[in-house]
Amino acid sequence: MKILLTGGAGYIGSHTAVELLAAGHDIVIGDNFSNSKKDVIDRIKQIAKRDFKLYEIDFADAKATDELFAKEDLDAVIHFAGYKAVGESCKMPIEYYRNNIDSTLNVLSSMRKYGVKNIVFSSSATVYGVPKQVPLKEDMPTSCTNPYGWTKYMNEQILRDTATAEPDFSVVLLRYFNPIGAHESGLIGENPNGVPNNLMPYIAKVATGELPKLNIFGNDYATKDGTGVRDYIHVVDLAKGHLKAIEYSCKNKGAEVFNLGTGVGYSVLDIVHAFEEANNVKVPYAIVDRRPGDVAECYSDASKAHKILGWTAEKNMVQMCRDSWNWQQNIKL
Ligand code: NAD
Ligand code: UDP
Repeated sequence: MKILLTGGAGYIGSHTAVELLAAGHDIVIGDNFSNSKKDVIDRIKQIAKRDFKLYEIDFADAKATDELFAKEDLDAVIHFAGYKAVGESCKMPIEYYRNNIDSTLNVLSSMRKYGVKNIVFSSSATVYGVPKQVPLKEDMPTSCTNPYGWTKYMNEQILRDTATAEPDFSVVLLRYFNPIGAHESGLIGENPNGVPNNLMPYIAKVATGELPKLNIFGNDYATKDGTGVRDYIHVVDLAKGHLKAIEYSCKNKGAEVFNLGTGVGYSVLDIVHAFEEANNVKVPYAIVDRRPGDVAECYSDASKAHKILGWTAEKNMVQMCRDSWNWQQNIKL
């Protein structure tokens, strides 16, 4: 199949590109590099030992999106492109709604115009809002606590409505839990600008000495050790989930939603200790106040993806910690 990866130069998109190429699919990457670097493209080619076409394009631009679809005879789209920083979304809601909603609307209308029927969308566990119970199942209530989350919530609705109106369409909504780790080659991984917001990239920078210590946001949650619990998933496992989602979309019409997580919750202290042990490094930390907006526990019931997509996360926490550290040490190359 020939698959367009919007935002394919980003963290999850680049790993998915590698898996799709390895499985024999052809890909086209479209990215405006607002949150990624151009050298990622050559790195994907280096790992996959295959070539593909790149468009430097803003999917919030309807005309440019149409032009891409006119040039490429696409079979499917995986729509990663979007802004993703929760804190920033609270400060710049208009930019977030504009970028994340417009790009989806443009991709969908180009798909309809050029007869492309299959789309896989990057949604997020954030649509579960403040969970009333865990593990989270796909049919549990959704709600959001910040503009970024609402863009995911709204995009899910837009995609569902489109699947209803266009009976030939196949829409797969993937709700990611917390992707960490990197490709084992150390050539691609997550490289956030400035001081990281997320736990794993922060820990990796503390381990290198670039940051003095990890601030643990609260140890008085109702969890096993008081620190927040999340469902961390290796990004390569997550990438493989997209392959299964594409296969599913070829055989099924309508809209379906799947959690992509491991189903296991790890606390912040679990992660600190796992990282120290896996990599034989020290991660100094201090307990500080809770971060506003954080929930105590968020982890998936991933049985639906297992049952229907035939997908299960395979990599364990040691591999996640080792690959994150390997990538961190390669970032400056
Ligand atoms: P990322 O920022 O690394 O990748 C997104 C890519 O999209 C970047 O390369 C960026 O340059 C590009 N982009 C953004 N807006 C664009 C536009 N208008 N036109 C063209 N390119 C554009 O993020 P990621 O971690 O790889 O996440 C991919 C998707 O998964 C995002 O939609 C994100 O919201 C979602 N998601 C991520 C996580 C996570 O923890 N990383 C969790 C849940 C959901
Ligand atoms: N966290 C922390 N210190 C940090 C970053 C994160 O203690 O510097 C905690 C955070 O409170 C949460 C967990 O680590 O319990 C995961 O946070 P992250 O931002 O990576 O993911 P999210 O909160 O979006 O699930």
